[in-house]
This record gives sequence, C-alpha cells and structure tokens, in this order.
Amino acid sequence: MNAYPELQLCIGGAWKSAEGQPTLNPADESVLGTVPHATAGDLDAALDAAKAGFEIWRKTSPAKRAAIIVEAARLLRERVDEIAFAITLEQGKPLAQSKQEILRGCEIIEWDANEGRRLYGRIIPSEPGMRHSVLRQPIGVVAAFSPWNFPLSSPVRKVAGALSAGCSIVLKASEETPAGAVHLVRAFHDAGLPPGILNLVFGVPSEISGYLIPRPEVRLVTFTGSIPVGKQLAGLAAQHMKPAIMELGGHAPVIVCDDVDPAGAGTLSAVAKSRNAGQVCVSPTRFFVHEAIFEPFAAAFAKRAAAIKVGDGRDPSSDMGPLANHRRLEAMEAFVADAKQKGARVLAGGSRIGNRGYYFPLTVLAEVSDDARVMYEEPFGPLAVINPVRDIDEAIDKANALPYGLAGYAFTNSARNVDRLAEGVEVGNLSINHFVASSAETPFGGVKESGYGREGGTEGLECYSVVKNVSHKQLDFTS
Ligand code: NAD
Repeated sequence: MNAYPELQLCIGGAWKSAEGQPTLNPADESVLGTVPHATAGDLDAALDAAKAGFEIWRKTSPAKRAAIIVEAARLLRERVDEIAFAITLEQGKPLAQSKQEILRGCEIIEWDANEGRRLYGRIIPSEPGMRHSVLRQPIGVVAAFSPWNFPLSSPVRKVAGALSAGCSIVLKASEETPAGAVHLVRAFHDAGLPPGILNLVFGVPSEISGYLIPRPEVRLVTFTGSIPVGKQLAGLAAQHMKPAIMELGGHAPVIVCDDVDPAGAGTLSAVAKSRNAGQVCVSPTRFFVHEAIFEPFAAAFAKRAAAIKVGDGRDPSSDMGPLANHRRLEAMEAFVADAKQKGARVLAGGSRIGNRGYYFPLTVLAEVSDDARVMYEEPFGPLAVINPVRDIDEAIDKANALPYGLAGYAFTNSARNVDRLAEGVEVGNLSINHFVASSAETPFGGVKESGYGREGGTEGLECYSVVKNVSHKQLDFTS
C-alpha cells in the first residue's frame, strides 16, 4: 500500500521489465523508478497481440464487454488511495486532486462501457425487397499516445473509448508519469479482460510513434499533447490514410461581462486556474474583463491567487503542487520575464519558489500587451493574464484571435450575451458561469489547431467505429 509501483510493459497480458529511463518526483527531484523502454521486438509482439485480441473482443457481446470494463472501474475505485499516492509522487498534484482524477476516470469508464451497448446502426427505407442496413463496427487496433499531465484520466479517455467500442489497443503512455497507466492496465486485466486486447508500452516517443503508426495492423491513431507533435503524428497518419483523434493544446479565453459580481468571479477564477498547477489543456488563461469591473475582478483574483498554498502534493495543506517537470518551470520564468519587459503588471506570484523541486506560484499578470509571448503561446502552467475590454464584441474578437480553439469560458447573467457567446466563440467546449470543460457524457475536443475528433459522449465512441452499409435484396431470379 502507498508504494510506487514497479514500472513494466504489458504485452499480450504478460508484464515485462526492461532497461529504460528514470522517473523523477517533481517535488524533490528524487528518482522514483525506471521506465522500461520497449524494443522493436516488443512493439511487434504488442501489435500481434492486439490483432489477435481484436478478433476475440469484437466477437464478445457488448453486454459482456461492458461488464468487464465496469468491473475495472470498480477495482480502480477500490484502489483509489494507492493509485492517488503514485500519481502525486510522479506528477506532483495534491493528493485530493489525484483522487478526483481517478474518480473522474472511473465515471468516464463506466459511461463509455454502457454507451458501448448503444452503438446503434440504422435501417434506411428502400424499395420493396431491398433493405439497407447501416452497421457501426469497431475500427480495429488503436495506437494511443497519452501525456504526462493526467497520468490516469488521459489514458482512460483512450482505453475506455476504444474498448467500449470493441477495439483493441496499444497504449504508449507518458514516460514521465507512467504509474497511472500501469495501474489502469492492471485493473483491466484483474477485471477479466482477455490478454492482448490492452497492451502498454513506453520508450522514446518519436521512435514508438514512428514504428507503430505506419504498421498495417493499426487502424486508428489517437494522441493528446502539443500542437507541433500533433501535426507530426497527424501527418504520419495521413501518409498511411489512417483516421486520427487529435486532442491538442488550448489557450482558453474567459469573457467576464459587466453584469456579474466581479469579486465572486475573480475568486472562482483563481481557484480554477490553480487546478493541476495550470497544466491542463483547458486551463482558463486569457481573461477578458469588461472595463467597468476590471479593477475589482483583478484585485479579487490576485488576492485569492496569493493565498493558494504551494507545496508537496503529499502534504494535505498544499493547494497546488510543483510543476511536473523542469521544462515547465523554465517556460514560466521565460513567459513572466517577457511579459514584464513588455509592460505587464505582476499582481501575484512571478518567480520560482526555492531551488529544489519545480515549485512556481500561481501568477497573475494584468494589462499584458498583445505582443507578449504569453498572449499567443499556451503557457501550460500557473499563469493567468487579465486584460480589460470595452464590450462583448471586443472580447469575442480577442478570444478568437489565436489559432487555438479548445475550451472557452464566460460569466454573464444575460440571456442575450449567452446567445452571442454560444454563436461567436470559436471553441469545441464553451462553459458559461462555471469552469468544468467536459464530463463523461459530453463530447470533448477542439476546433482550429486544437485538433479534431472527440473524446467522451456518443461522438467520442463513434470515433472508434466505422460505418458499413449492407444492401440486401430479396433473391428473385424471375423478375
Ligand atoms: P512536447 O511537445 O515535447 O510533448 C507533448 C507530449 O507529446 C508528451 O506527452 C510527449 O511524450 C509526447 N510526444 C512528443 N513527441 C512525440 C512523438 N514524436 N510521438 C508521440 N508522442 C510524442 O512537450 P512537453 O514539454 O512534454 O509538454 C508541453 C506542451 O505539450 C505544452 O505546451 C502543451 O501544449 C502540450 N501538452 C498538451 C496536453 C494536452 O492535454 N493537450 C498534455 C500535455 C502536454
């Protein structure tokens, strides 16, 4: 209990150790374990296993598939404390947020499992004697790539969607936060998933994706990560004519209208920004606040931000853990220096805490010039920008000015504003008067460079299926 798990590959249901790279604890930079790297032979074996596994799984009834998948969620719930501890060790977030991530993952698994029983086709009316049946069939072997910010719930999106639709999967999870995926795959096997249907590998990301995506066994690619890597993988998938689900970066705008309580909205916004230390693709980042309430909103935001306690995620009094890796720390320092140099006011935070562990406070920048890097590059960390706007039209124009289009948020009490926001903001997910960007039953994904395809909801499962039309005519040689 409460130990960091042994990190292994899982191929054809068999767990395997290998040499690889160290995994670090971002709270103190100590080594937690060694992530095994898969060889080309391991990848071949994983593809063979997934191909054979697909033949078993596609012929398993949807009800039986759902029962196994739901049992995996039950086991994850039972093991929540142990898994949360491992996630906090490797990724840094406070234990309470690690638990939330696991429980949210379980909701996704359960919803997808049951929705998998409702992947209906349809019958198209035709002339007498002819019937067109539209079938939805599982697409086949899926190659999935998940990132380090949500060690469990990000792979869950892919594994639950693929398995619930009847597909098999080779998952390459993050080498920096591998324990979440190890626990996930273990829970599915303990729940009775036949060997070969879910395989787990690690290695050098570009080598693994370069090896798996072109292989004929792979029928679909799903990736969550940065836009530059997404473009590379989507290009590789396109060369081999494979569909892809791309869940990429965001730079979420938040439009605050003049008809809301500025102190309430500012306080809520600071707490939302601190979640997972801002390392979330839907993290609220660019706040466009009506000039009439700009000052009280910014003051309340900064006050709440300064009160966010940063510390080791294992300490129950920590509100925000360290950043997950050194790259994010360097990025935060560079964004703040650049914005300050271009005239931004720092209302809270602004520089690294200590010199061991990757701690950076929730940082609030106000009146940031449009040419500051943080205004057009995704910070992916605890940085919020608050700028005043004249009216909702200017706010919507600014929200849409970037090539990103994942999540957006707005605060207003006016139905008229809601209509304009719903029509005008270019995002895949718009949340009004709250900060929850997605849930198990809603489709989640981006527009513009934030990607395509959906995870979650009915649309999410449909991405793992192909449509086949079967025309059946009554045999009659007399006419
Ligand atoms: P990065 O661009 O190097 O990597 C992003 C992710 O892609 C990582 O998980 C990495 O392991 C994986 N990856 C990199 N090259 C790959 C390849 N050729 N094939 C397969 N996988 C590959 O950046 P990073 O420093 O790890 O993360 C920072 C940036 O990544 C952030 O700015 C953010 O935009 C993005 N990111 C987004 C999400 C998300 O939820 N959409 C999650 C994590 C990171």
